[in-house]
Amino acid sequence: MKGRVVIVGGGPAGFNVARAVKTFYPECEVTLIEEKEDTQIPCSIPFVIAGRLPLEKNRYSLEKLKELGVEVRTCKAEVLDTGERKLFLESGETLCYDKLVLATGWKPKVLSLGEEGLEGVYYISKTTEQVKRILEDVKRAKRILLVGGGFIGIGLAGEIKRTLKGKEVILVEVSERLASGSFSPAFSRRLEEELTAFGVKVLKGTAVSSFDGNGRVKRVSLSSGDVLDVDVVIVAIGFKPRVELAQEAGICLTGSGKVAVDEFLRTSADGVFAVGNCRAYTCVIDGEEVNTMLASVSARDGYVAGINLGEPTVKAKGIVPFGITSVGDSYFGFAGYTEVALREKGRAFVTAEVETKDGYPSALKGVNPLKVKLYFDKAGVIVGGEVWGRSKYVPALVDFISRLVWERLSVDEVLSVQSVAFPSVTPSPLAQPVQLGALMAKKSLS
Ligand SMILES: Cc1cc2nc3c(=O)[nH]c(=O)nc-3n(C[C@H](O)[C@H](O)[C@H](O)COP(=O)(O)OP(=O)(O)OC[C@H]3O[C@@H](n4cnc5c(N)ncnc54)[C@H](O)[C@@H]3O)c2cc1C
Repeated sequence: MKGRVVIVGGGPAGFNVARAVKTFYPECEVTLIEEKEDTQIPCSIPFVIAGRLPLEKNRYSLEKLKELGVEVRTCKAEVLDTGERKLFLESGETLCYDKLVLATGWKPKVLSLGEEGLEGVYYISKTTEQVKRILEDVKRAKRILLVGGGFIGIGLAGEIKRTLKGKEVILVEVSERLASGSFSPAFSRRLEEELTAFGVKVLKGTAVSSFDGNGRVKRVSLSSGDVLDVDVVIVAIGFKPRVELAQEAGICLTGSGKVAVDEFLRTSADGVFAVGNCRAYTCVIDGEEVNTMLASVSARDGYVAGINLGEPTVKAKGIVPFGITSVGDSYFGFAGYTEVALREKGRAFVTAEVETKDGYPSALKGVNPLKVKLYFDKAGVIVGGEVWGRSKYVPALVDFISRLVWERLSVDEVLSVQSVAFPSVTPSPLAQPVQLGALMAKKSLS
């Protein structure tokens, strides 16, 4: 492939598109348009806010792309004309393209309760300026309110409590459970116990109803009737895809408002692809759309689309929703569909719960408990799992389970999958939780 490729958005999705195009089609002229100049790696923003990672060490850089010969421009792309194959920039410039990739990412969901312009109320943004403002305010604050008991709110609450001593941290969650969309009640309870043991005050089943303060937030009223005195509020109630450019260009969106793509990540407009958080994902289990917005999935998309710009050869199979959060040294993760999702979908399932250790023998110093819950559908196909533990083995296990779900393996196949064992870092071969869980599930299914 030759010609001009234009990428809109320089997050992990856009970055990897540029890298793949330069790897496979070095003769292509590649221009990446990124609106924001100075940004942070979003995944580690909670560590920066809590002061565990210096702001300047978390800077996100597109320099590597420049070394690969990609032209990087800091500017907003304002209008896309897919008929003429032209992109109009805020600077007044017009770029012609042969292929264009939308990698426009996410923006935070907002409460819209009059908090706009009120000092001390923050939404998470990638810009270094905003992260700096939050961390400086958090450093000064005595009472910090986190709104949203999902993965980011939980992670932030734990990190702030762990690193910054003497802060009062309150977490407000509208539903009756933390991370209720991802975890079963037992895992949500465990999460809450860990947060509470850390000193975080958790208020569930209540929502923020108003903010009060003269120029700067002083109090927050909750739907429960409680009024909280606060110094800083960080709102993390979820993320939305940024699709304005695509929508105004007449590109098809799905019912949930994300850019619709085919298996090669092509949009409804000729020559236009979409990758990452701005595009819709379907779940490999049932082909239904899932609301997964993760850097790891965006990065994968980038390579797939980058290659497909030349010849559509690499299929972007559906995904397995998954995620990890932590409270101190406790890690919680899930993959696929767990209890709530399966009940909502009306799908019958069996579960198997295994309590084991993350090393062996258990007398070995540093060995901790590990809990795993697996979900199989009635046909015996693995559809999900939850993991809790105190070691870095948790993310590895989430990845492992997610892979088994992705492969749509039957309980017999899960039983026959091999798994590595090493005393200081994995469970014992005699208590490998996935195999043991499969054994129990096979018995329940028989
Ligand atoms: C606090 C936090 C923690 C997270 N932790 C994790 C984690 O542990 N693991 C994980 O996998 N994911 C995590 N995520 C999610 C992850 O950050 C996102 O999924 C990832 O950034 C998405 O990548 P993307 O390239 O699709 O979009 P983005 O990173 O949003 O990149 C899109 C880029 O496009 C630019 N852009 C948009 N419109 C235009 C335009 N019109 N013109 C020019 N530029 C434009 C934006 O400025 C942006 O830089 C976390 C997110 C947050 C906020």
